Amino acid sequence: MQMQSFGAALTVTGSMHLLTLGSKRILVDCGMFQGGHDLEERNYETFPFDPAELDAVILTHAHLDHVGRLPLLVRRGYKGAIYCTPPTAALAETVLLDSARLQTEGYKMDLRHARRGGVTDEQVPPPLYEEADVHQTMALFRPRLEFGKTETIAGIKVTPQRAGHILGSAYLLLESPDGRLLMSGDLGNRESGLQEDFVPPPEVDALVIETTYANRTHKPWAETLREFSGALQQSVRSNGKILIPSFAIERAQVILYTLKNLMDAGEVPRIPVFLDSPMATRATNEYFEFGDELIPPVREALQAGEDPFRPSTLHVVPTSAESQRLNKYDGPAIIIAGNGMMTGGRIQHHLKHHLWKPSTSLIIVSYQSPSSLGGKIVAGADTVRIMGEDIAVRAHVYTIGGFSAHADQDDLLAFLSTAGNPHVWLVHGEPEVMNDFVPLVGQKGMKADMVPDRQTVDLLGAGFENGRPAGVVIEPKSPAESAGNAARAEGGE
Ligand SMILES: [Zn+2]
Repeated sequence: MQMQSFGAALTVTGSMHLLTLGSKRILVDCGMFQGGHDLEERNYETFPFDPAELDAVILTHAHLDHVGRLPLLVRRGYKGAIYCTPPTAALAETVLLDSARLQTEGYKMDLRHARRGGVTDEQVPPPLYEEADVHQTMALFRPRLEFGKTETIAGIKVTPQRAGHILGSAYLLLESPDGRLLMSGDLGNRESGLQEDFVPPPEVDALVIETTYANRTHKPWAETLREFSGALQQSVRSNGKILIPSFAIERAQVILYTLKNLMDAGEVPRIPVFLDSPMATRATNEYFEFGDELIPPVREALQAGEDPFRPSTLHVVPTSAESQRLNKYDGPAIIIAGNGMMTGGRIQHHLKHHLWKPSTSLIIVSYQSPSSLGGKIVAGADTVRIMGEDIAVRAHVYTIGGFSAHADQDDLLAFLSTAGNPHVWLVHGEPEVMNDFVPLVGQKGMKADMVPDRQTVDLLGAGFENGRPAGVVIEPKSPAESAGNAARAEGGE
């Protein structure tokens, strides 16, 4: 039972794990590296295996850092099936098409810049893939995994279970002749808006677990809701625009659901709500479609024929022309737009038109990395540069920190508590964070090891001294830096 990781090893992005179970080779996730040039360079590496020789690909969930390199895998020769749950397939299509579009647009812009700068076209890296590659990839999807139902894939028994992270997210139990292995994918925050808790795992021999937030605990959900409601009430009183930058998957739906509940309860007046993100709009349709896997109040609303993601004053903004027209819209309104860290997307022109007005409120519901536009605003910049213009920051800025879709330390330890006595392998985390988590797993009587980058590990083998593969040096990072790295894992955009 061997594993070789080509992403999410000693880092939080680019999840890709090659399992060798008996004679079969199964790839779990095929994600893109995100977050800065050095990491993103790795997306251009050739696969360290022949894609044509894989027996199967299985996906845990649809975030870009778990599915983003699939079209590349197909381009380079993979012709087999890609297994996942039905909602993961639906969301993955949205995520991959968006990724192809952003890459194509980015490439065209880079070409223009390069030509003006006298650089030849050949020096500009082309998109990793285009829309046609995504369509070819989607044709290989077999969205037939169901929580709790065992499927035989390449001769291996595979049972997906609810991971509670985003819609459709699963962890995988794989039963091979050598032993029982669990791949966690990303695990959910047990206190989040829409997801039911992860199903406690069965006893296994080896367990590969994500560790994004393995060194911290999230704020209680009730407190987050109080903060959000308080910020909205104050904002409505100033009678201006209320801007909410949001990630398109999970966060946008949690915000819509919460807004609807607050308005229905009379806590927030029924002012117009504009959902100004085509990707969030498509993802919200999937949340509606597959809402029967979400928390009971969502299921009950759906059964009663209601749409729990649609505040009565919701307007969906399909085109960018209509988005521009919103700039002239008079009166108070809530505008939800991407992207989450304000580094691009439609939120930028809303900020340009409203950030300088004292009547505007900016409600931040996601972590902002210090170098992002959002990070600069949170840090108290007087002016920020948006679309080539200096814009004064006069809006009231609210920061609500508790909306995480990832398990925190308590959640991760709770997850491990029913798994028997497996060898625990840590992925999808910063080395410093994992280093804090290794002894906590040790206190539960289990051996924990960080998964090395690219190196094959025997999942039932001895592991490493202190849980650290050779060459891993622990350098304490600033809290802002490691929180920023973890936050990248939240967005998928
Ligand atoms: Zn995720």
